[in-house]
Amino acid sequence: MKYYSTNGKTEAVDLREAVVKGLAADNGLFMPERIEALPTTFYEDIDKFSFQDIAFVVAQAFFGEDVQEDVLRTIVNETLAFDCPVVHVQDNRYALELFHGPTLAFKDVGARFMARLLRHFVGQDHKRAINVLVATSGDTGSAVVNGFLGVEGVNVYVLYPKGKVSKIQESQFTTLGQNITTIEVDGTFDDCQALVKRAFMDKELNEQLLLTSANSINVARFLPQAFYYFYAYAQMKRQGLQNELVLCVPSGNFGNITAGLFAHRMGLPIKRFIAANNANDVFYQYLHTGKYLPKPSVQTIANAMDVGNPSNFARIFALYDGNHETISRLIEGFRFSDDEIRATIRECFQQTGYVLDPHGACGYKALQLSLSENEHGVFCETAHPAKFKETVDAVLPTPIDIPERLARFMQGRKLACPMDNSFDKFKAFLLQNASRE
Ligand SMILES: *Cc1c(COP(=O)(O)O)cnc(C)c1O
Repeated sequence: MKYYSTNGKTEAVDLREAVVKGLAADNGLFMPERIEALPTTFYEDIDKFSFQDIAFVVAQAFFGEDVQEDVLRTIVNETLAFDCPVVHVQDNRYALELFHGPTLAFKDVGARFMARLLRHFVGQDHKRAINVLVATSGDTGSAVVNGFLGVEGVNVYVLYPKGKVSKIQESQFTTLGQNITTIEVDGTFDDCQALVKRAFMDKELNEQLLLTSANSINVARFLPQAFYYFYAYAQMKRQGLQNELVLCVPSGNFGNITAGLFAHRMGLPIKRFIAANNANDVFYQYLHTGKYLPKPSVQTIANAMDVGNPSNFARIFALYDGNHETISRLIEGFRFSDDEIRATIRECFQQTGYVLDPHGACGYKALQLSLSENEHGVFCETAHPAKFKETVDAVLPTPIDIPERLARFMQGRKLACPMDNSFDKFKAFLLQNASRE
């Protein structure tokens, strides 16, 4: 399968190159040249399959031509070493819990798949070490680091905005060492993302180093997120609840919802989508006005969604030929203030006992406002609430428990390197520290 750039100014590449490069040479995002519908028999029987079996069928549709069947099977099985259950919360609203992985957030799925696919490709070509650059607003860093920790031939550089991620999140990626380097940038998430993007465009850096991205823009991270939407459908079908299905995704960089749109294109029977935002409402504004106007991000209590220029907008635009009417008919937008998010966490707990995290709360609230009686709504619970303990404890009557696998991170020592928001400094740092062979 070839992958083309959303900017259309460079030639299509094969999977290996798309995965290793991350971003196209013209700064666009890679898109698979074909998105094939899966056979109707697959959807008829989907409720009888396991998560791994469903995911393998989806993975084959994209990667089957380029990765041997047994290798792909192993990558899928190793990636999905944990469950993504659908849990009833209230009325016709269900949570797709994506936090049962090692770092308690949905990004574990894409990060684990990508690390394994990249290791597979690196294994075929021992000549050069790969340097993974990743900008994080919180959860990406820990998920990527977890996926790559100790993987030979791969070095990871994590850039994160100083003082803008929670202590718990920070501990999950700054305490590990080994092949992981963390850089604490005096700036915002958008600054971190810009530094990474510029590194990929820099001629000298690319001549000297083999660089790749592990942000949600990488096809190997973003496509596997479709797995759990098929599985969510299967779980709803098992209960006879698959009709009039609405999928609601708390969105920041829009990778997660875009994977859902790919699933829809492959024939997954989802009636419509909801993109739930915090105060960073660029996409919401686009849906209402037809104009896409990026702006600086603002800080919120759902900080993994603090994105002012969502990268994956380019993929959504490409998927629907830039047709605003099609896009706004399929996707509804919501945005919530921090106060509304807090009120939702409190209210949902009081009424149901279910503890939402600040991101999932946006999804839950959007469904509450949008669903009609005959619809069934599934929202992504994108992280475990304990990752945002301070915020959640402040609105609930009693403090929530910290799961063991999260507590372990918090005992480590912080190893981050501080850095100004300066591309020259970042470049010098990479030239000095990154491995060339
Ligand atoms: C990354 C993240 C999001 C946003 O996902 P996108 O794919 O960037 O839209 C939402 N919630 C949590 C907890 C996240 O970590």
